[in-house]
Amino acid sequence: MDLENPAFVEEVRAFTRDTLPETTRAKVLNGKLPDRDERTFWQRALVAKGWGAPAWPVAFGGTGWDVVRRHVFDEILAEEGAPNPPVFGMGMLAPVLMKFGSDAQKARFLPRILTMEDFWCQGFSEPEAGSDLASLKTRAERDGDHWRINGHKIWTTLAHVADWMFALVRTSQEDAKQKGLSIVLIDMRTPGITVRPIITMDGEHEVNEVFLDDVRIPAGNIIGEPGQGWTQARYLLSLERTGIARIGQSKREIARLKAFAARQRTPSGSLLEDSQFARRIARLEIALLALELTTLRMLGAMKAGDAPGPEANLLKIRGSELQQAITEAMLDAAGLHGFAYDPHAWSDGTHESPYGAPETSALAGAYFNTRKVSIYGGSNEIQRNILARTLGL
Ligand SMILES: Cc1cc2nc3c(=O)[nH]c(=O)nc-3n(C[C@H](O)[C@H](O)[C@H](O)COP(=O)(O)OP(=O)(O)OC[C@H]3O[C@@H](n4cnc5c(N)ncnc54)[C@H](O)[C@@H]3O)c2cc1C
Repeated sequence: MDLENPAFVEEVRAFTRDTLPETTRAKVLNGKLPDRDERTFWQRALVAKGWGAPAWPVAFGGTGWDVVRRHVFDEILAEEGAPNPPVFGMGMLAPVLMKFGSDAQKARFLPRILTMEDFWCQGFSEPEAGSDLASLKTRAERDGDHWRINGHKIWTTLAHVADWMFALVRTSQEDAKQKGLSIVLIDMRTPGITVRPIITMDGEHEVNEVFLDDVRIPAGNIIGEPGQGWTQARYLLSLERTGIARIGQSKREIARLKAFAARQRTPSGSLLEDSQFARRIARLEIALLALELTTLRMLGAMKAGDAPGPEANLLKIRGSELQQAITEAMLDAAGLHGFAYDPHAWSDGTHESPYGAPETSALAGAYFNTRKVSIYGGSNEIQRNILARTLGL
C-alpha cells in the first residue's frame, strides 16, 4: 500500500465507494462478470475524474503516475469491487499503437478505447496455434487497397460483444514463420465474420470461435509494416503477463474467504477457528504477501527504468496459482452448499437463487472459471519454460 501517500489511498477509496453502483460492486464481489453497460459506466466515471487510463502517457489522457502509484490504484479498485479495466483495448492494443502505430491510428482509436466507445477483442490463438502461436495459419492477402483475410480464431474472449478485433495474421508465406506475421485491425461488423460461442464449464459465454471468410479490410488497418507482427505481439504479451498477478483481487477474495469461514459453524466454533483451515488461510496470506513484495520489487526496478525481467513470468505463475487456491478454499469452506451452482442466479437482476444465498450460488462458477487463469496469457508450463531458459537451466 502507498504508505508515502495515505491521502491518495483514501481519495481513491472514497471516489470508488461514492461512484460505483452497488449492483456492479455486488456482482464483482460475488465473482460474476459485469455487463458491457456497467463496465462502460464505470470507465466513463474514471475518465471524468481524470483516472481513465493511469498507465497511458499524459498526452493521450493518462495520469503521469509512476508504476508503483498505478499498482496501488489498481489494487484499491480491485479490493473495492470495481470492474477490471477494458484490458484488450486499453492494456494491450493501446500501448502497441503508441509504440508501433501511425499517428492516424492513434488519433482514430485511442480516444474511443478510453471511453469504451469501441470495445476490442484479441484474435491471436487458433485451433493449432496456442502455445506455438507463431505457427498460426490465418492469412491476409493484399487485394488492391484492401487485405483479404481467411482463417479461424479460437478462445476469443468477448468477441460476441466486441466492435473491433486486433488479430495476428500471416501476411507472407515465404519468410520464416515468425517473420511473416502482422497485426491487423478488423471491424467486427465487416461481412464474412462469424462468431460462434464456446460455453465454458462454468456455464458462461465468455469465449468464442471467430471464422473469417474473405473478410476485406482497408490496407491501412495494419500496425506498422507487414512482417512486424511478431515483435509487436511479444511486446503486447509481456504487458499482459505483468498485469496478470491480480494482487488486489486476491486480497479481496481472501478477506471474503475469512469472513465466510467465520460464519461457517463447526462443532467446536467457526471454521475460521479450526486449526487446519486457519493454517490453510495463513498459507494463502503468506503466498500473497510474497507475491506482492515480488511485484513491488519488480515495479521498483521498472520505476528506475529497467524493463520487466523474468519476474513477469514468475508473477503470472504464482498469481494464477494463488487465485485458483483461493477459489478451492472457498468452495471447501461452503461444504455441500458449494455444489449448488446456479449459473442464472444473477441473470434477472435480483441476485436471488432457489439454491441458496448469492455468495454460495456463485462459488462453483468462480471455481470453474478460475481454471482458465493458468492457461491464458501463455500457459504456466510455457512460463516455466521461459523462466528456465532465462535462468540458463
Ligand atoms: C478462458 C480463456 C480465454 C482466452 N482468451 C483468449 C483471447 O481473448 N485471445 C486469444 O488469442 N487467445 C485466448 N486464449 C487462448 C490462450 O492463450 C491459449 O489457450 C493458450 O495460449 C494455450 O494454447 P492452447 O489452448 O492451444 O493449448 P496448447 O498449446 O495445445 O497446450 C496444451 C497443453 O500443453 C502444454 N504445452 C504446450 N506446449 C508445451 C511446451 N513446449 N512445454 C510444456 N508444455 C507445453 C500447455 O501448457 C497446455 O497444458 C484464451 C484461453 C482461455 C482458456
